[in-house]
Amino acid sequence: MIQLTNITKSFGTLQVLKGIDLHINKGEVVSIVGPSGAGKTTLLQIMGTLDTPDTGTVIVDGIEITKLKDKKLAQFRNLRLGFVFQFHQLLPEFTALENICIPALIAGKNKKQAEARAMELLNFLGLAERAKHKPAELSGGEKQRVAVARALINNPAIILADEPSGSLDTKNKAELHQLFFDLRDKFGQTFVIVTHDEELSQLTDRTIHIKDGIIQYDNAQPAANNEQLSADNAQQPTDYGQQPADLSQQAEKNSATGQEESIESPA
Ligand code: ADP
Ligand code: MG
Repeated sequence: MIQLTNITKSFGTLQVLKGIDLHINKGEVVSIVGPSGAGKTTLLQIMGTLDTPDTGTVIVDGIEITKLKDKKLAQFRNLRLGFVFQFHQLLPEFTALENICIPALIAGKNKKQAEARAMELLNFLGLAERAKHKPAELSGGEKQRVAVARALINNPAIILADEPSGSLDTKNKAELHQLFFDLRDKFGQTFVIVTHDEELSQLTDRTIHIKDGIIQYDNAQPAANNEQLSADNAQQPTDYGQQPADLSQQAEKNSATGQEESIESPA
């Protein structure tokens, strides 16, 4: 699902990533941990096409993203990646429903289709009655769940999260973490999560420790399991539907209609 090979990255004279090789399988929930300044966010941003490495290649969902440019890159990011940040980054003037719809509208889906899918997600997350609320009227936990719904709306291959529970209290934190595992167990959703949270990193399938720009430790799954997951990947190199059929059918229909020219950068 994600293959990083020899990733290096410097900011000026500071070499932040010093040769990262990493393979992440479909359906894995992976945490990236390490001291502040270790390069975790930089690595996640490179996986997410938000930054580019100085050397190395990044293959995500069968596409070498380090070769994509401008419009194709923005399109890939919009359709195949979902992002969750520490601070929800919802737009304050829009309702929960409208915020969730934004990536779908950027992808060229019509408002009705986007809203129907957003409502399905809100229902799934137990937030249907909050659809018309603006972020200021939602609790911290609700805002993060809306942010997860926004990340899910285009059926991404991977959700990338940077300290997603970093600003939540204990109860909301536990609920958000449970949601990640529910999405993985039910729909095979892949997650890469940068976190300081010990509890979360212990729950994840795999924890990658980064220090001084290199991977110090990676408790990867048993090889047999990896092979099975790799085989699953090989069978579905262009699997655009990792969400449940009822949620993904519409999006698949839409992606089949070819919206390429209308897709703009979400930035
Ligand atoms: P982490 O997420 O592990 O705390 P980061 O990846 O955010 O670490 O940052 C790693 C190092 O790179 C830090 O020393 C940080 O100050 C530096 N850094 C990150 N982004 C930039 C940037 N855009 N320009 C200059 N330095 C940066
Ligand atoms: Mg960081």
